[in-house]
Amino acid sequence: MPEYSRESFTDWDHVVAAVRPHLDALLDTQRTPWTRPVTSDDKAFYERSQEAGAAPERGTPLPELLTEITSTVLDRGYLNGAHPQYFGYFHPRPLPAAVLGDSIASLLNQSPAAWRMGPAATAMERETLSWVADFVGYPNATVPGGIFTSGGTMANISALKLARDAVLGDAVRENGVTGGGTVYVSSELHYSISRAMDFLGMGRAALRVVPTDRAGRISVPALRERIGADVRAGHRPVAVVGLAGATATGAIDPLTDLAQVAADHHMWFHVDGAAAAVFAGLPRTQELFTGLASADSVTLDPHKWMFVPYGLGCLLVRDASRLSASFADQAHYWNHDSRTDFVFLGPEGARPWKSLGLWLALRHLGREGYADLLLGNLDVARHLADRVRATDGLELLTDPVLPICCFRAVPERDGVDLAEYTERLHRAVVERGDFHLTVCHPNGEPYLRVAVNNYTTRNEHVDALLEAVTDARAALDA
Ligand SMILES: *Cc1c(COP(=O)(O)O)cnc(C)c1O
Repeated sequence: MPEYSRESFTDWDHVVAAVRPHLDALLDTQRTPWTRPVTSDDKAFYERSQEAGAAPERGTPLPELLTEITSTVLDRGYLNGAHPQYFGYFHPRPLPAAVLGDSIASLLNQSPAAWRMGPAATAMERETLSWVADFVGYPNATVPGGIFTSGGTMANISALKLARDAVLGDAVRENGVTGGGTVYVSSELHYSISRAMDFLGMGRAALRVVPTDRAGRISVPALRERIGADVRAGHRPVAVVGLAGATATGAIDPLTDLAQVAADHHMWFHVDGAAAAVFAGLPRTQELFTGLASADSVTLDPHKWMFVPYGLGCLLVRDASRLSASFADQAHYWNHDSRTDFVFLGPEGARPWKSLGLWLALRHLGREGYADLLLGNLDVARHLADRVRATDGLELLTDPVLPICCFRAVPERDGVDLAEYTERLHRAVVERGDFHLTVCHPNGEPYLRVAVNNYTTRNEHVDALLEAVTDARAALDA
């Protein structure tokens, strides 16, 4: 019998026996991530992806395919976020408990989309939502006071839909947006906010981008002025979006002030805390987030600083009845259940039970465990900031309030274009293959951005980065 017989792809004993010898190589990606480069990106992958392929006609035995995955994905086209010297865009090193959760969820194939698609999955997802709200100190008397989504983008789009419907009136669901409505956010916004304006028919032109101070926080006087001018011009202000951890710099807007502005104009107040709202749950950092509890909705991505694998975002909502007001629907084939059907509380249909990984991680680590990992990240970012401050020729953007540190090198010679210099410096450091970091431009100024989003990153790793940066600077200045 050939190995790709019906039995070989449906018989679990057969599959498990085939997979077992390959597990070690896969687990090594997490055990010893530093033995691989931080990124590998073979040109051949891109070229191959440009060509249309024919679907496989004949089967291939699993062991052969697993060998191929190891030799191609891992060796030639792999973002090694588990590496302690990965400082790029949020790409958490996943917790073992969370990976286990994903695997179990796939194996059992339960969906929390509707009670009957997974009664325990739905009940546990409700429970997990209430834990997230409690973790960050967000009052939600109603359960479920929110939804899980595929990520922060979908959570932000959903939040602005709640805002649109609540402020412009639920009739917009039938008639579409007619009068328009304006939304306010700082220039540090995530692109999902402008995407939401487009998606929801409010139009990107109705998004008002408000300037920030040097630390990247929204200017409240400028915000008030802009709202005043819009009201005088006959616009209807719909929502204020506060950032609780800007993607680039980690800046946290003055949330209490924003809550007041929103209340003064009967607007929805949404907090985009996709990356960092989890820090609101730690005694050492919670003060930065004062005002978060007054928000009408909060976005939080467990797949960033809660260390679960990609695919889990979350939207917490104060008045949970707004979820069904915005997402209720009917279909003749759907037999409604009086228990929870998440399909009619959010934008997505059948969903994987991604929240099981978070349920396991929260149970396994507890708040204490998370505090240990998160404050560890923060201490490393602060250590880097201290080192930058003490190094000639380096310039810190601001003291990091979260585990993101932005700094730059100043060229020795005058008249050098700083943006170009920063790009070249960045390339020189990344090309070595043992570091990954990015460049950002808060208020149009170029900076290197170092995010510490890996719980195995220690001071020695940012010390090594700093050495690489100063070496690259010396080479550029030579
Ligand atoms: C990452 C991020 C998002 C988007 O989240 P995804 O999970 O990538 O869709 C939104 N807002 C902020 C502030 C973010 O950092």
